[in-house]
Amino acid sequence: MGRSEASQNKKKKNIPFFPLIIFVGMLFTVTLWDAYLHGTDPLGRELVSSLILIMGTLFSISAGLFSWSIESRRGMLERQVNERTRELNEKNQELAEKNQEIEQFIHTISHDLKAPIVSIQGFASILKSELGSTLNEGQTNYFSRILTNLKYMNSLIADLLELSRIGRIEEEKEEVDTIKVLEGLVAELKPEMDRRRVTIELKTEFPKFFGSRKRLEQVFLNLLGNAVKYIGTPECPKIEVGCSESRKSGFSEIWIRDNGIGIKKEYQEKIFQMFQRAPESIKEEGTGIGLNIVKKIVELNGGAVWVESEPGKGSTFFFEWTKACGTL
Ligand code: ADP
Repeated sequence: MGRSEASQNKKKKNIPFFPLIIFVGMLFTVTLWDAYLHGTDPLGRELVSSLILIMGTLFSISAGLFSWSIESRRGMLERQVNERTRELNEKNQELAEKNQEIEQFIHTISHDLKAPIVSIQGFASILKSELGSTLNEGQTNYFSRILTNLKYMNSLIADLLELSRIGRIEEEKEEVDTIKVLEGLVAELKPEMDRRRVTIELKTEFPKFFGSRKRLEQVFLNLLGNAVKYIGTPECPKIEVGCSESRKSGFSEIWIRDNGIGIKKEYQEKIFQMFQRAPESIKEEGTGIGLNIVKKIVELNGGAVWVESEPGKGSTFFFEWTKACGTL
């Protein structure tokens, strides 16, 4: 069948039958009515009036049936929608409960693991210093590896504990002086920045923000800390921080740009998930939890976080945060 033939068939199928039937019915009624008014034969008039009566009755019945079928269909659809909404709400509730259980589980596990690890760390350090000069090169190396791994486990547990706290504990929200927060964090990162010869520049004005100061600091610290850590070895290592109006009303869009090692396209979304690290960054210490913490905090505050990056050229991380009331 040709294309035009098919479309003609389609058109044929789409003829609106319902108005056509009403039109024919009305035409028929008007003709009968006319015959009734102008007819002279009493038998004919009686027949016509009976026909009109029958037609009127049929019309009322079919109109009633039609509206009943529409009503019952609407009712059925409404019941289906209500049923689906109820199912969806139940699933959401289950999911929220499961998430809470998982977070509680992570919290308990990491909390309980903390004490034995601190104890192992303490005893390993005592043992190492007591054995001191009796240790040969290989044994010293083993001790260093034990202590490095314990340090890693400690930061892993600290990060997991922090992750489990976000959203579980209600944080106080307040107006935050963004510049002060940034200056404090830059001072905190200064030794590491000096070690890597990194400079940092605030490129724009910053409005006052609104939200949990502690969580906002955590977001900035994770992103700035990563920018320093993954700076690599460019000629002039530098980090720039700026802020612009967000498309989301009441929010600012903050960006943190570095000219570091960058991130391959296939990792640019993955790195926001737990324990995900790009292979290029493995030689730097890390747990792969920091960006997941950032994502959770930013999303809980109603914003989004994302990255644009080119391997070997650098990365720019963006996140949205609420402006304080009355801030333009
Ligand atoms: P961590 O730094 O502890 O590994 P994060 O969750 O903070 O964990 O980061 C996840 C991964 O994202 C890092 O391991 C690294 O591969 C990548 N990454 C994050 N920030 C940058 C950055 N500024 N430049 C390059 N890679 C980055």
